[in-house]
Parts: sequence; C-alpha cells; structure tokens
Amino acid sequence: MAVAKRTFDVVIVGAGGSGMRAALALSEAGLKVAVLSKVFPTRSHTVAAQGGIAASLGNISEDNWHWHMYDTVKGSDYLGDQDAIEFMCRAAPEVVYELEHFGMPFDRLENGTIYQRSFGGHMQDYGKSPVQRACAAADRTGHALLHTLYQKNMQSNTIFFVEWMALDLIRDEDGDVLGVVAMEIETSEVMVLQARATLFATGGAARIFQASTNAYINTGDGLGMAARAGIPLEDMEFFQFHPTGVYGAGVLISEGVRGEGGYLLNKDGERFMLRYAPNAQDLASRDVVSRAIATEIKEGRGCGKHGDHVLLKVDHIGDAVIRQRLPGIRDISLKFAHVDPAQDPIPVVPTAHYMMGGIPTNYHGQVVAPYKTGPEEVVQGFYAVGECACVSVHGANRLGCNSLLDLLVFGREVARQIIEDLQRNPHPKPLPHDAAERPLARLARLKSQKNGESVAEVGVEMRRVMQNHCGVFRFPDLLAQGVEKIRTVAERVKNTMINDQSKVFNTACVEALELDNLIEVAQATMVSAAARQESRGGHARDDYPERDDDHWLKHSLYFSQGQKLDYKPVRLKPLTVESFPLKARVY
Ligand SMILES: Cc1cc2nc3c(=O)[nH]c(=O)nc-3n(C[C@H](O)[C@H](O)[C@H](O)COP(=O)(O)OP(=O)(O)OC[C@H]3O[C@@H](n4cnc5c(N)ncnc54)[C@H](O)[C@@H]3O)c2cc1C
Repeated sequence: MAVAKRTFDVVIVGAGGSGMRAALALSEAGLKVAVLSKVFPTRSHTVAAQGGIAASLGNISEDNWHWHMYDTVKGSDYLGDQDAIEFMCRAAPEVVYELEHFGMPFDRLENGTIYQRSFGGHMQDYGKSPVQRACAAADRTGHALLHTLYQKNMQSNTIFFVEWMALDLIRDEDGDVLGVVAMEIETSEVMVLQARATLFATGGAARIFQASTNAYINTGDGLGMAARAGIPLEDMEFFQFHPTGVYGAGVLISEGVRGEGGYLLNKDGERFMLRYAPNAQDLASRDVVSRAIATEIKEGRGCGKHGDHVLLKVDHIGDAVIRQRLPGIRDISLKFAHVDPAQDPIPVVPTAHYMMGGIPTNYHGQVVAPYKTGPEEVVQGFYAVGECACVSVHGANRLGCNSLLDLLVFGREVARQIIEDLQRNPHPKPLPHDAAERPLARLARLKSQKNGESVAEVGVEMRRVMQNHCGVFRFPDLLAQGVEKIRTVAERVKNTMINDQSKVFNTACVEALELDNLIEVAQATMVSAAARQESRGGHARDDYPERDDDHWLKHSLYFSQGQKLDYKPVRLKPLTVESFPLKARVY
C-alpha cells in the first residue's frame, strides 16, 4: 500500500515540556521541525505538574548547585549517573531564568524574585536541614510552563501535528533511525515522517498500574516503539509511588502541600513520619514516605472503615494561604475527596506516579544502545528526552521538581546536540522499502480481527497484575507469579479486537495501539523487578530489604526480544567535582 511521506530536519514525538523545549531551540536555529502529539500540545501531562521546578536560586534560603547535586545523588539511592546529575544541577538556575525571560508567570516574592518552596529531599548543606528550592507558579507550575513554551514555539514556526499518533520507528539495516510512521487519529490516515533526527519526548507510563496520578495518554508509546525496534529499556523496575494520591481517585496532591507545612497522620492521630525520618520528617524522599504509609496501613494503623489510607492535615496553615499558594489542591480535594482542606484532612494513599527508567541516553540526549550483538554505541539519528528517557539523573528514585528541571535542561541540550550532529549529516538516508509494513499490518489485523478479546478487559487485567504483583513492596512469590501472569496478558494483547469501528474519533483503535505499548513497559518492569535482588529507591523487596552495592550498583537493560536482561555500570564520576561516596540513605 502506498503511504504518503513528508520530510523534515527533525521529527519530535511529544509536545510536553521536554519536546517543546527542544523544538523551540531547534526551530529558532532555523531547522524544519515537526512535533507530533496525541492530544493538543498544551494538554500533555506536563500541564498537570503542580509543585515546581528545582533550581538553587537561593531566593529565600541559602543554596548552591553542589547541595542540589548531593540531594539528587542521594535521592537516586546512588543509581543516578553523576556526570548527568552534575550537568543538570549546574544548569538549573540558567534554564529557570531562561523561562522567566520567555515570559513564564512565576509567583513572586516581595522583592520581585521568583518564589521558592520546600520539597521532599531538598536540603541545605549536604542533607542538614530543609531548603526552599522549588520555583513555583502557585500549584500550577506545569500549566504555566507548558503554555509559555507553546507560545514561544508558535512564534518560532514549529510545525505541530495535533492528534497524530506515532506508531513505529523506522530503523534501517545499519541500525540508524530515519523517522517514524504515524497515524492521524481522526481519519486513520497513515504517513511516513522522514527525518535526519528523530527525538522521542513521549512522557511516562505509570498507566501500567491501576492507581496512577498520570493522564490516560501516558501509555509509554516511545518505550514500546523503541523496544520493538530492538532498543533496550533501562532501569524499568524503578517506578515512583507518590505518597499522596487522593484515596480512591488517584489524583495527585502535590508534595508542595507538605512543603507549605502540611503533614501526615495515622488513625491514632500520630505524626508517624517522625518515627521514619526524624530529620526530614514529612519532607523525606518520596519512596521513604510511601513505604512509611504502606507500613502504617499494613500494621493496622490506617484510617477509615477499611484502614487503607492515611490523612494529610493542612487546615493549620489557614484558608488564606491555601487559597493563595494551593488553589488547585483545594479544588482537587473538594472535587475528588469531598473535603475542604481548610477544615478537614485529605485522605491519601501511595499512587504510581513517575517512571525513573526509560530509553537509555547519555546526557546529550543521544540514545545509546547495543545493535544486534555489538557493543553499546550512539544510535545514529535517534534521541530521547524527558520522562521517556533514562539519562539517568533520577536513578532509583526521583526527587520532586527534578523532572520539570530534567525536561528543560536536557530539552535544551538535546537540541544543541542535534544541531551539531546535523551539520555532519546534511542529507537524509534513503528509507527502507518496508518502512511502514509492521504498523500497517498491525492496523489491518486489528480492524479485521473477529472473535478477539476486548482491549478494555485485557487492559484492566494488565493493570491489576502490575498493581498486585509489583507495587510499593515487592514479594518474591508475587513477583515470580507476576512474570508469568503478565506474559499471559501479553499473549492476550496480540489477540485483541476493536469492538466499535464506527466511532468518529477512532478511539478504540488508539486504545488498542496504546495497549501494545503499555504491555511492553509492563513486561519490562515486571521482569526487571523480579531479577533485582536488593532494595533501592522505588524498588523495595520484602526478601532483600537492604541495598546491595557489591552486586547491584548497576543499571539494568531489558531487551524485549527474548525478554533478556543485561546490566551496565553506573557512571559514578561527575564532570568536574569529586564523586559523592556511597552512604546509607537516612533522612
Ligand atoms: C500530576 C502530576 C504532577 C507532577 N508534578 C510535578 C512537579 O511539580 N514537578 C516536577 O518536576 N515534576 C512533576 N511531575 C512529573 C512531570 O510533570 C513529568 O515527568 C513531565 O511533565 C513529563 O514531561 P514529558 O515532556 O516527558 O512528557 P509529557 O508532558 O507527558 O508529554 C508527552 C507527550 O508525548 C505525546 N505522545 C505520547 N505518545 C505519543 C505518540 N505515540 N504519538 C504522538 N505523540 C505522543 C503526548 O501527546 C504528549 O504531547 C508531575 C507529574 C504528574 C503526573
């Protein structure tokens, strides 16, 4: 079947903060840039980010990038690559000031500088006391950021393909990436987008779990496409469970609430975090707080009829502060918990939130992977940035506000790298003749399949298996069963059908294609988690409760073909400073 083709200098899949930051720099450099998004660009999940962007501006309390770097290395449970972490923390103030100059409406202090609040794991003087490092626009920081970047992209003539879904990567015999095959969601029209550089900025995949703070579109499409093209996925066992999702609804209550003075209570009215993290208390790292909540619940000190959640108390900070600094949180608790936080505590529970792993890259955003049986090398023409990438600055656990920072720093850096690489590579390589074959065959099979399984039912089963077998605490027997169960679900995914082809917006087809990607991520996560016999950051094994640096201070690489695992060393050497030595992680 003949498929239409368009050619660009750069194709970016994803219009969240990372994709738009990169697009802006590339368009401003005069390149022809296409950005694809499943939804209108400003509806990407970045828009939901609440709390802030981490940068050591020191506007309220003394701060510097060395302390920020230390907190990030410690927060990552020493799995983060220290070269990339140094690169990010040093650049943080600069990318925030850039945003300010783009017109981002940050909250302000009396003296006109950017408002900063406390966040979990952000400390002064190498872990001694909390610092105010999160640059915020009320509790709608992502909203302000995304709109600012979208407007700047409009100004610099970035070309948007709105409601277009990328289906697969195009990779030739040499392993080089030459673009993507994509589908217009409304019409099902398939097109080849050829590019000299292809950048994935497709965001996270916490939708593999039943209870998730993520948008429904966060289905790990970039990871699915990369995995199918033979690229391994790095550190997929590390998902972050955010301590405070609204009980029953999953919607996020930002850590900014605790940053503004809120704290957690168990059923006895006890501030239990004092026992788990005497120093940082409610502002300990997220994995620590989530495990504390899960333990309180497990040991019978949970709240409510079923004892299955805890309470977040905020009323003492007063209605005026809540309305000024946390207006979105106030709305969310009224709508989803039916609670006015100025009167009553908000019921919360740990909820899947962020994917630390992803497509392996170096700190220039170039994808780095072995090809066939060769050594690891830069994949020509292929880049990844944002939550879909594993740089790895977050290691085994991400600190709050370091993701928006990651989008900005590496979005800008990958653009610089692409501009440099394209100077050496002025012409597009010819496309393989079968570039669109796999996605076309998949679509044809989906549409003609009779007596198949329902996409929705198989999706529910996948999320249930992930939730029950790979949650906050991980148990050996449940993991072993989980590997088998998720493999069975993967077989069922191949046999799904679209029930209702009459829908104008073709959503059934999109959901089926998303499930193909989700199941790649789910399998990578389960298999990698079952293999890692230690507890580190977001991966807490009941049978191996300690971190084991002798055997497991390494990144995992999961290969979809054959479900094989390999490992590679953590880059412990920073760029210009001394490494932070390994230490037990206490808050
Ligand atoms: C509720 C919530 C609050 C958060 N708060 C904070 C915070 O305060 N501070 C912080 O640092 N981090 C926060 N995070 C994390 C942070 O917001 C995300 O990690 C980050 O925004 C992800 O940005 P991104 O650019 O990688 O992707 P996203 O913003 O998720 O965008 C992904 C883009 O990819 C597109 N896409 C995906 N698949 C395809 C496909 N197949 N074809 C075409 N397009 C595709 C989507 O349409 C979208 O445009 C929060 C996360 C959540 C869920």
